[in-house]
Amino acid sequence: MFLIDIHTHQKTGAATSLCAIYSDFQNLDADGVYSLGLHPMMVQSYDAIAIESAYQAMVKKQVWAIGEIGLDKRNKAYWDLQITLFQQQIEIANALQKPLIIHCVQAIDACLLYLKAAQVPVIFHGFRKSLPVAKQLLQQGYYISFGAALLQDASLQMCFKQLPLDQLFLETDDSPIAIDEVYETAAKVLQTEIENVILPIQENFNRIFKLA
Ligand SMILES: [Zn+2]
Repeated sequence: MFLIDIHTHQKTGAATSLCAIYSDFQNLDADGVYSLGLHPMMVQSYDAIAIESAYQAMVKKQVWAIGEIGLDKRNKAYWDLQITLFQQQIEIANALQKPLIIHCVQAIDACLLYLKAAQVPVIFHGFRKSLPVAKQLLQQGYYISFGAALLQDASLQMCFKQLPLDQLFLETDDSPIAIDEVYETAAKVLQTEIENVILPIQENFNRIFKLA
């Protein structure tokens, strides 16, 4: 069975793991599967040429999603620039009809505000927040993705347990662990067989990327 990894920074070459690119935008393998975006922690490092290069690369067929994009309060000095680029990239995602992968740190209200403009599926990656926040996102119809934190964090496991699998994803992000470990942990937390985690997530993947 194929394990979907909705957000990784490793080029695995697998059609079921989305490699997230935030620099060197023209350097994509022809047969890779990517998400691509201007990272909110790095907005100050992009010049006009890099931004144009990112926006051009977003059109490519191996770029399946736009992201990770979003807002991060730790980069407060460039807050206005984060908002401008976030809004532009939401517009591009709408025009290209590609899903959004969201990076959101200490900025949930602002993210939700600007995401009102999104007309494509939205995935909040690296979720580590509370159950009420998770429910708020699901209510909007958004998806949530859990990563390596699920292996360690008991309160995050409690949160995960109470959410419907038909709006969830799993990921490795920049962690060195294998995606298998995240699925095994998810199954253990839910006290179920791993197939019961793999199949709904596969269906979510097929749904948002219109594969089946
Ligand atoms: Zn990432």
